[in-house]
Amino acid sequence: MELQSLHTHSHFCDGQGAMEDYLQAALRHGLTAYGPSSHSPVPWSNNYSMALADIPRYVAEARRLRDAYQGQIEVYLGLELDFRPDLYPFYQQHLFPHGFDYFIGSVHLVGELNGQPWSFEGRLSSFIQVIAERYSGDARSLLTDYYALVRQTVAWPEVGILGHLDRIRVHNAGEAFFSEEASWYVDLVEDVLDAVQQSGKLVELNTAGWRKTNPGPNPSPWIVRRCAERGIPMCLTPDAHRAEQIAFQYAAGLDLLRAAGHRYVTLLQDGQWTPTPLNP
Ligand SMILES: [Zn+2]
Ligand SMILES: [Zn+2]
Repeated sequence: MELQSLHTHSHFCDGQGAMEDYLQAALRHGLTAYGPSSHSPVPWSNNYSMALADIPRYVAEARRLRDAYQGQIEVYLGLELDFRPDLYPFYQQHLFPHGFDYFIGSVHLVGELNGQPWSFEGRLSSFIQVIAERYSGDARSLLTDYYALVRQTVAWPEVGILGHLDRIRVHNAGEAFFSEEASWYVDLVEDVLDAVQQSGKLVELNTAGWRKTNPGPNPSPWIVRRCAERGIPMCLTPDAHRAEQIAFQYAAGLDLLRAAGHRYVTLLQDGQWTPTPLNP
């Protein structure tokens, strides 16, 4: 069946290699569309975001590839927006006017640590430190803050795809911090799904979670099933940071979508989000 790769990074942010390397890998995998979606610039320095000054080159390179490979593969211009409620005016001023085809909205940041925006995807030691210092040892309070941010991401009109919905499980190997079966955790996720369902937006099945220390897709299979039951559409994404990850674990992702009861996967075709049957 037709597949695409719309959540990809490159040397513009924390990925390795050029956009064209990813596009070539997409062609080798027979994908029908490729979209770069670098980490959005933010108004402070860090080691994973694109620089604001690079936006014109980023946009120009995607458009060059779109024209150069016309008839071989569709190229869309995307961005992974780093969600923080206070960043909206910055994005509105500097990013939204550039004619992007889609935005993935992702929460990586929950509050601050040592006076800097804190990404929970960093070291386990900082995860432990934040829970101890900011949340008095209560992981549930951190998760409550995290899912409140995920819910707010859905409310930004420009966000079309909710990125790695439960990425905060990254450090939860062996359920060290929480159980996904706890009723309070299920309720936090269901509140997010309420917002997504009302919005009609897409949730990505992000396969990159399978290469993390607590391996598994984002979101977890039970949430993928809940999306199917609620009629929430999903797309399949690799969150590639190297060209060879362009279709990372796509077979497993498709198996999961089908097993969870999804009958369609959503593709971007001719500029329209299109539900496409998941053939057996
Ligand atoms: Zn991300
Ligand atoms: Zn990403």
